[in-house]
Amino acid sequence: ASTARTQSMSAAELEDLDRRHLIHPHQRAAQHERHVMVRGEGCHVWDAHGTRYLDMTGAANWLAQVGHGRPELAEAAARQTSELEYFTSFDVYSNDKSILLAARIADLAPEGLDRVFLTNGGSEGVDTAIKAARLFHSRRGEPDRTWIISRRFGYHGVTYGAGSASGFDHLQFGAGPFLPNFEKVTPPLPYHREMYGGEDPTDFLLRELEETLARIGPDKVAAMIGEPVMGGAGVVPPPDDYWPRVRELLGRHGILLIADEVVTAFGRTGAWFDSARRGMAPDMIVMAKGLTSGYAPLGAVLMRTDIGDGITEDQGFAHGFTYFGHAASCAIALANLDLIEKEGLVDRARQVGEWLRDGLASAAELPHVGEIRVVGAMVGIELVVSRDTREPLFAGAGAATAELRDVHQVITRDYGNTIVLAPPLVLDRDDAARATRAITE
Ligand code: PLP
Repeated sequence: ASTARTQSMSAAELEDLDRRHLIHPHQRAAQHERHVMVRGEGCHVWDAHGTRYLDMTGAANWLAQVGHGRPELAEAAARQTSELEYFTSFDVYSNDKSILLAARIADLAPEGLDRVFLTNGGSEGVDTAIKAARLFHSRRGEPDRTWIISRRFGYHGVTYGAGSASGFDHLQFGAGPFLPNFEKVTPPLPYHREMYGGEDPTDFLLRELEETLARIGPDKVAAMIGEPVMGGAGVVPPPDDYWPRVRELLGRHGILLIADEVVTAFGRTGAWFDSARRGMAPDMIVMAKGLTSGYAPLGAVLMRTDIGDGITEDQGFAHGFTYFGHAASCAIALANLDLIEKEGLVDRARQVGEWLRDGLASAAELPHVGEIRVVGAMVGIELVVSRDTREPLFAGAGAATAELRDVHQVITRDYGNTIVLAPPLVLDRDDAARATRAITE
């Protein structure tokens, strides 16, 4: 298929300029291949050559809830930028759309969380939550509560704060050290039960967490951060009793729990917020991605009332990005939330997940497929050398992802030995079937 759009520059010229000028996250200089996307509509995107792809990844980054090229969001952006593109929210200033968005997020949120701090994305949100947690304790007379607990293979972003919380060492290779007073614990990856030495995974993890707190001193710990369902680790839901027991243990020691819902919020898992139904009862929720479906960069940190009030006492919260509450981004977010609601996309995510699960039923029996995990409209297909040893097949997911894109025009992503799907929530049954046929093949 070819795009009707007239290109002023050929694909080859764009690719050449890209190689000369654009620094890509996570790309190595030796990788010369480029896939330059120029247009999107629904669940499809077109590259500069005019090739059409089925986007099974939400713009290759777990978002695009409402699909690509939605005129409703283009109109919201045009209307807002012609009315008021931006006015700061620092100090006593504000703009109407940031207020309306904060109120809307608070409306959707679990009970007790109603104070909102706006950011440009997830990493800034994680940094903000960590800073808020420490400041909250410090204002209440516990300035030594500085330690942050997170999990290996948890992904929270790449700034020095969020990167320090992330559980992937390569993020700091050669650019370290990351920050002090960050401690990692074992993640809940039930498929890899060998990690827990034959013990029940939750029992093992709770014992380890208790020992970690005892070693640091529980009164030195500010917060624990975790994704309700781990995304970058390969779409891994924890055992049902994991978050309730973690929550209870942290609560006993006055330690805050931060839910990183950058991926999971806004329908992705079949709920507005995933933490609520996993018994996480977080004190703060970090969100981004699905908040605008990617139509503008925007994130938010939702806080318990007393945390929001606590950090603004005295000298206030000495924190804030120029584009906090950007009026156009907030107008887009409001229009995006309207669409998610009007089109029932939170429920539809569950339907999309069922179509994908059914379509992958025969793939689940293949010898190198260890486990297929489906959570709402997120799927992780974990590849193993053998189903008996569960040894990861690292070469498999990258090769499959490349072949799916180049041969079948289906975009998926590989995370370690897992193929990940996180399509727009507007995916229809035929496209779900097309994707699962290609993946199975
Ligand atoms: N937290 C999670 C769970 C994420 O998946 C991501 C990004 O993928 C981030 C935080 C960081 O967000 P950003 O890339 O917008 O800084």
